[in-house]
Amino acid sequence: MIVTRFAPSPTGRLHLGHAYSAIRAHDLARGGGGQFLLRIEDIDGTRSRAEHVATIMADLTWLGLTWDGPVVFQSARLALYQTALDRLREEGLLYPCFCTRAEIAEAMSAPHGPVSVYPGTCRGADPRARMGEPHCWRLDMAAAIARTGTLAWTDRGETIVAVPEQQGDVVLARKDAPASYHLAVTVDDAAQGITDVVRGRDLFEATHVHRLLQALLDLPTPRYHHHDLLTGPDGERLAKRHGAPTLAALRESGVDGVVLADELRRGQLPNGAFRT
Ligand SMILES: [Zn+2]
Repeated sequence: MIVTRFAPSPTGRLHLGHAYSAIRAHDLARGGGGQFLLRIEDIDGTRSRAEHVATIMADLTWLGLTWDGPVVFQSARLALYQTALDRLREEGLLYPCFCTRAEIAEAMSAPHGPVSVYPGTCRGADPRARMGEPHCWRLDMAAAIARTGTLAWTDRGETIVAVPEQQGDVVLARKDAPASYHLAVTVDDAAQGITDVVRGRDLFEATHVHRLLQALLDLPTPRYHHHDLLTGPDGERLAKRHGAPTLAALRESGVDGVVLADELRRGQLPNGAFRT
């Protein structure tokens, strides 16, 4: 059975791009008699708002989308992420990083040329004297890849070879949150039995890391469907575009959400938007 999910962060209001993603995930599940789950990615306690959760549910209902089972909140699942983190730490694949944002920015603009990933400043350092200071936990990418060997996933039917090394030593537990996006998503997709991950192409690069974490944690690999993004006429993504109407604003102005959803399915995009 196909199981998909829509997993927004309640840090703001949803836009047409979110609607498009939710519709694609919903329709893939419903088309095969499967399940469509709703997961609220609220591990960022400082930016998440309960009022946005209520708005997200109202938006989906307005679009004519229904989800199965209870809504899952990441903030209620921190123990699961901790267990995964402990395992990786015990296997020697994590190290604490004490760098500030400014220090990382400085290291990345060093004279030997700009690097786009964390330069590994804290890797191999003895952290014992500093553990009382704020720190995040990073994955020792080279050690992790040595453990798993070459990995791949299926994306819209195509085989993609994972190259997680291009992301460097990614953060798996943040200074201000007990898990990072990468860790929480990987653990939750497995725990919820997600067979097919439908999401925007902006998250394609993250999948390299998710595939690696699945291998390290002995979790299954779903099929992936990274879809096009909706943009405005200026080419900027609708989710980020200044002044793009939110779903809530469209709903409150009397737009019929079910009609709008059908237009999105047919590739008809309102407000001059188009797919890239
Ligand atoms: Zn560091």
